[in-house]
Amino acid sequence: MADPRGFMRTRDRELPSDRAVSVRIQDWREIHHHPVGDAAALESLHRQAGRCMDCGVPFCHHGCPLGNLMPEWNDLTWRGMWADASERLHLTNNFPEITGRICPAPCETSCVLGINQPAVTIKNIELSIVEEAFDRGLVHPAVIDRHTECTVAVVGSGPAGLAAAQQLTRAGHTVTVYERADAPGGLLRYGIPEYKLPADVIERRLDIMRAEGTVFRSGVDVGRDVTGEDLLASFDAVVMTTGSTIPRDLPVPGRDLAGVLPAMDYLVPANHAALGEPVADALVATGLDVVIVGGGDTGADCLGTAVRQGARSITQLEILAEPSRERPAGQPWPTYPAIFRVSSSHEEGGERVFAVSTVSFLGDDDGRVAGLQVVDVEQVAGRFEPVPGTERVLPAQLVVLALGFVGPEREGLGEQLGLATDGRGSFVRGEDFATSTPGVFVAGDCGRGQSLIVWAIAEGRSAAAAVDRFLTGRTELPSPISASTVSLRA
Ligand SMILES: Cc1cc2nc3c(=O)[nH]c(=O)nc-3n(C[C@H](O)[C@H](O)[C@H](O)COP(=O)(O)OP(=O)(O)OC[C@H]3O[C@@H](n4cnc5c(N)ncnc54)[C@H](O)[C@@H]3O)c2cc1C
Ligand code: SF4
Repeated sequence: MADPRGFMRTRDRELPSDRAVSVRIQDWREIHHHPVGDAAALESLHRQAGRCMDCGVPFCHHGCPLGNLMPEWNDLTWRGMWADASERLHLTNNFPEITGRICPAPCETSCVLGINQPAVTIKNIELSIVEEAFDRGLVHPAVIDRHTECTVAVVGSGPAGLAAAQQLTRAGHTVTVYERADAPGGLLRYGIPEYKLPADVIERRLDIMRAEGTVFRSGVDVGRDVTGEDLLASFDAVVMTTGSTIPRDLPVPGRDLAGVLPAMDYLVPANHAALGEPVADALVATGLDVVIVGGGDTGADCLGTAVRQGARSITQLEILAEPSRERPAGQPWPTYPAIFRVSSSHEEGGERVFAVSTVSFLGDDDGRVAGLQVVDVEQVAGRFEPVPGTERVLPAQLVVLALGFVGPEREGLGEQLGLATDGRGSFVRGEDFATSTPGVFVAGDCGRGQSLIVWAIAEGRSAAAAVDRFLTGRTELPSPISASTVSLRA
């Protein structure tokens, strides 16, 4: 245990400050400072790691789908044993520099110290360990010298595909990752904005994977450029990690007006532009009134993007009522409560409106959106009922629909591989991630439904163990979850 009295000596959470709002909205660079090697920052980290009580029944293990070993790496951080801390961190997580930046940290809402004090700063300690380790030259490719003769195709290079590919490569199999975008990373690269997760952080990890022997083939739309039958004929196993890519729509009058678009049609070109890549015909928010329909994290990412593009006004609409600031009685510790959260984007501008529904989109004479007709709603017996007399029009020349995703694309590759979809539109798989087509496995959002990076990594790791067992009859790869594992996240 790090410091038996640490949680009494240091009662408050300390986190490195973010870049000032007025400065960071001028560019696309990461909003967080990473004070690697800085003496004051290391001292603060020492105090924070010392707050871990090594409580005996660490619920944070269960809060994290990866089963990260927080008390162990808190202890090693407190002792300044960076090589050991990094090794312990990487035992359970392939990409801690990504979760350490943008995981919503369900571990922290289940931290035992959090029952009556602010929780241990687990996520920042995770990030600090891996960034210190990179800075000190402690993160190396794990190149293995014993190869099987088995080949695996991974389709999709988001966190699920990357985790599966790294695990299977390290088990000695020859792994090829196919990605239809021009570079690997999935939502990590072109979905999540550069100011939250820079592309060079992804590239740094991809370089390690390349050095370990994983082969990447970008710009290949599997199902069209290469068929499912080709994959089955050429590889011993196929892992589908194609994500949940079909956006939920809002079929109200005026939906087909120009200037009303799904979140990914807005964020992906914006991310290309942020990386200095040429973008044709992208809608940008400069000088416009922007309305984002959907109050979740994707909507918040659109908000931060519109701020940086210089929108005239930004409004984010949410149909649910504003959540409370405190844990609701029905969501006690250690669950992940649905409380009012302020993301980094919300600090930067825009207005959030709760309990409001879109009735229709209004257009101008050129067929472009000019506004939204909205109405306040209240929940009555589980239904959203309009509040009479609250109808109004919000001006908008750009409307972004951030309403989530309804599942993976089944046409093409899904059909070619004989994959069925369940009632939620996700690919059907068994507890061990295997589908009814022999040798085909499903992991990540395309099987779980729209979720989180930490779940995608956990699924990728677990599916890799199942594939390894399928190929060799046994496995030593860890399997943190089964396909139906649910979390403490509400
Ligand atoms: C805007 C946005 C912001 C988010 N922010 C966060 C966050 O801050 N924290 C968090 O934890 N989670 C966040 N999420 C959720 C998280 O990104 C996803 O849960 C996660 O990326 C899912 O990983 P995946 O590997 O299953 O799929 P994805 O990351 O979606 O990757 C799937 C990949 O498969 C490729 N593909 C699909 N079909 C084919 C094909 N036929 N051939 C070749 N390639 C194909 C796609 O191009 C894509 O690159 C966010 C999601 C969005 C949309
Ligand atoms: S991956 Fe997420 S849940 Fe797991 S320890 Fe890190 S921040 Fe916590």
